[in-house]
Amino acid sequence: MRIGIDLGGTKIEGVALDGSREAARLRVDTPRDDYDTTLRAIAGLVRDLEQRTGARATVGVGIPGTLSPDTGLVKNANSTWLLGKPLRDDLQHLLEREVRIANDANCFAVSEATDGAGVGAGVVFGVIVGTGTGAGIVVNSRVLSGPNGIAGEWGHNPLPWALDDERPGPPCYCGKHGCIETFLSGPGMANEHQRRTGRLVTTPALVARAKTGDTVADDTVSRYEHRMARALAAVINMLDPDVIVLGGGMSNIDRLYEHVPKFWQPYVFSAGADDVVRTRLVKAAHGDASGVRGAAWLWTA
Ligand SMILES: [Zn+2]
Repeated sequence: MRIGIDLGGTKIEGVALDGSREAARLRVDTPRDDYDTTLRAIAGLVRDLEQRTGARATVGVGIPGTLSPDTGLVKNANSTWLLGKPLRDDLQHLLEREVRIANDANCFAVSEATDGAGVGAGVVFGVIVGTGTGAGIVVNSRVLSGPNGIAGEWGHNPLPWALDDERPGPPCYCGKHGCIETFLSGPGMANEHQRRTGRLVTTPALVARAKTGDTVADDTVSRYEHRMARALAAVINMLDPDVIVLGGGMSNIDRLYEHVPKFWQPYVFSAGADDVVRTRLVKAAHGDASGVRGAAWLWTA
C-alpha cells in the first residue's frame, strides 16, 4: 500500500493506493499559519487511511515548495508557515518511518504524464494554478528536478510581454513584483478585478458571472486568459512541450482550453511562417487527485 499526501494551501488530501487502484481517500482543511497543527493533520490522515485499509503504507508528500538541497529545510513555499521548517524530519519522527517529499507540481506532472492527460507525450509541462502557480516538467516519463530543486518554477518569472498597467505588478511573497503567480493564481484573478473595479468578488463568482454575460467580469477573465497565453508562450519558446496540462482550481475554467491556445499563437516564435502551434493545452485527467497520486508514486521510483 502507498499513501500519497498533497499538502495544499487550503486542503490536505490523502490517498491510499493499492497498485493504481484507489483504496481510500480523505481530505481535511489545512491549518493555515500553524506548522505544528499541520504536522499533526498530516499524521492524522496517514493513521486514518491505514486504519481504513488495514495496511501499513509507504508515505510520499507533495508540498508547495521544495526541500533545500543544502539544509533539507522547506524553501519556496507560498504556504509561508512551512518555510525553514524541517518538515521531512518532523514527519519521519511522527510517523516512525522514512517519508519522501517532493514539490507538489512535480507530483502532479508525474501523475498526469504517467496515466493522465499527458500519457504518451514526450515532454509534459504540468501546471497547477490554484492558491499559487507551480509547474513541473516530465521528459520521457522522468521528472526533471535540477540541482536547485526548482525546475519548472516559472511562476516566479516576470509576466512576459507585460503591458504598462502590468508593471511593476502586484507584490509576491517571494519578494519580487509582477511574478506570473501573482496574475495566474486564483487570488490573482480576484485581486485584478478589485484593482480595476474596486469591488471584491471571489474568483468562482467572477467566472460564473462572465458566463451569464456580465461584461465587466468577462473582461477580467479575458485578461486572465491573455496573461496565461503570454506566460505559456514563453514556456513553449523555451521547452517546446508536447502537452501542457492544467490542474488546480483555475483549471476548471472550461473556456481557457479554447481561448488560451488562440491567444498564445502570436507570441510563439515562428518568424516567416504561419505554422499552427502544435502544443496542446489540456485539463488534468485526475483532477484534484493528481497531486496525491503523484505523491504516492514517489515510492515507485
Ligand atoms: Zn514571486
